[in-house]
Amino acid sequence: MFFTESGREITVAAGSPTLKRGGPVRPHMQLADGVYALSQTVEHEEGPTTVHPAAVETERGVVLLDVGFRDQLDQLSGALENAGHDFEDVWAALITHQDGDHAGALADVVDRTDAVVMAHRECAPYLDGREDPIKGDGDRYPPVSVDVELVDGVRLSTAAGPMEVVFTPGHAPGHVSLYFPGEKLLIAGDALTAREGDVAPPSEEYTLDYEEATESVGRLSEYDVFRTLCYHGGFAEQGTGAIAKLWNELVA
Ligand SMILES: [Zn+2]
Repeated sequence: MFFTESGREITVAAGSPTLKRGGPVRPHMQLADGVYALSQTVEHEEGPTTVHPAAVETERGVVLLDVGFRDQLDQLSGALENAGHDFEDVWAALITHQDGDHAGALADVVDRTDAVVMAHRECAPYLDGREDPIKGDGDRYPPVSVDVELVDGVRLSTAAGPMEVVFTPGHAPGHVSLYFPGEKLLIAGDALTAREGDVAPPSEEYTLDYEEATESVGRLSEYDVFRTLCYHGGFAEQGTGAIAKLWNELVA
């Protein structure tokens, strides 16, 4: 019941560098009251890639959960507008980890909204420029200072009830997922992926420490989850049972 028609993924014509203004409706999907997935598609040499930042309403405004690729702010703001918010409503950006597909647009977001930036303490040095992003091949997005360093268990008050930071390292240092106990909704970041509506293991290719990432899957299986948004692969109407099964397969 939380699906909307506009939640479907859109395809981009081959060779098109980005979605064009005035093109198809920029997709968003309501995941719970005040929680939206904001999909973003970019064209790579291998074909289009779709990623799934999210947004959650709070009394202070909108908190973005990851901000997507650099130079794709139009897509992010367009999807947020379709979810009923001006981009200027953003008051904070919470980054799950350092990778450029999640944090690349951070400097642009801060420029435009003066958003408060939040990330795990172990992620902060990569965002603020003390360290270069590990997977960036030296080509980094503009550094941005982190205002609030997160640790496991921190809870933010949102329109969907508390949103809890869950420390899920392995894919990258200081990776976090977000859990909404009132909605039994998990925003997994890259701690999990999804494939055709099923939750799937973290990417083998892009995960730095797979043993640690496996432990994080085990950790997530202890939460009472009904549905899951994965940054790569999107929404899965699956939770604890499917995550526990994945974990059992990974440790077998
Ligand atoms: Zn990613």
